[in-house]
Amino acid sequence: METYYLQECLYEELIQHCQTCLPYEACGFIAGENNIISGIYPLVNEAKTVNRFFVRKEIVHQTLLDITNANKQVLAVYHSHPSTHPHPSQLDLYHHPDDHLGMVILSFQSTIPTIKWYKITNKTSTSCSLVILKEDHS
Ligand SMILES: [Zn+2]
Repeated sequence: METYYLQECLYEELIQHCQTCLPYEACGFIAGENNIISGIYPLVNEAKTVNRFFVRKEIVHQTLLDITNANKQVLAVYHSHPSTHPHPSQLDLYHHPDDHLGMVILSFQSTIPTIKWYKITNKTSTSCSLVILKEDHS
């Protein structure tokens, strides 16, 4: 199973973005290098519904440019499920833009949010493992 690594502070940033958007879905890009995440790039959801999102093309292009300029790569596209389990829906699989990108889903179904990373191949999802790295306070 493929493993990705996420610093706790970035994980909190991710959760916070999704929580701010509730009850609507949030979405954005996860950037990094190899399997290590180094940046969260929220996108503005203009659909304002609980199970779909729409982001303007110009915003997507600008965000991708920001990621490239920061010498990072897009590793995954993330979105939230405000009230359902963290599994990709048929629609999620259908709309996934690129099999080279992972699909990250954050679920707010229960009080403690859950996060899942999937690899998508031909509209089929496979779970990857995601490790949250605790901050070193020593
Ligand atoms: Zn979804």
